[in-house]
Amino acid sequence: MTGAIIALTVKNPVLAVPLSFISHFAQDLVPHFDHFAGVNDEHLFERKFNISLVTDFLLSITLMIVLAILFPAHKWLIWSCMVAAACPDLASSYYHLYIERIKKQKPKYDLLTKFHYSLQWSATPRGVIVEIAWAIAGIFTILSMR
Ligand SMILES: [Zn+2]
Repeated sequence: MTGAIIALTVKNPVLAVPLSFISHFAQDLVPHFDHFAGVNDEHLFERKFNISLVTDFLLSITLMIVLAILFPAHKWLIWSCMVAAACPDLASSYYHLYIERIKKQKPKYDLLTKFHYSLQWSATPRGVIVEIAWAIAGIFTILSMR
């Protein structure tokens, strides 16, 4: 959502895509929901956890489709910014899903991921309240840009 707002506000891909990537870290400083927060390793990728991940993924794809319909001239920039904004969490998925779960190894995080995790002072299930408030504000912001 934030990546899309940056795309529609900045409109210059040279600035918008890196800003979207950086925005992820700024947003992680705000209390938020995290799929991995409060989940013990043995419960990672169990049914409830997987439903949460798949729901998040489907909501993101739905948002990408809706935004492409609303802003066809800017869809590639919107999509690029959305993916850039999600990249730090995609790296987390790589470590948790591929390295820990599939390869059954203890991950050695890269510097950027270490920095990313250092910002997670308040990633909890209750953070979903902040996420819902941000989603509502974001929807109204995006609709006002039409
Ligand atoms: Zn993050």
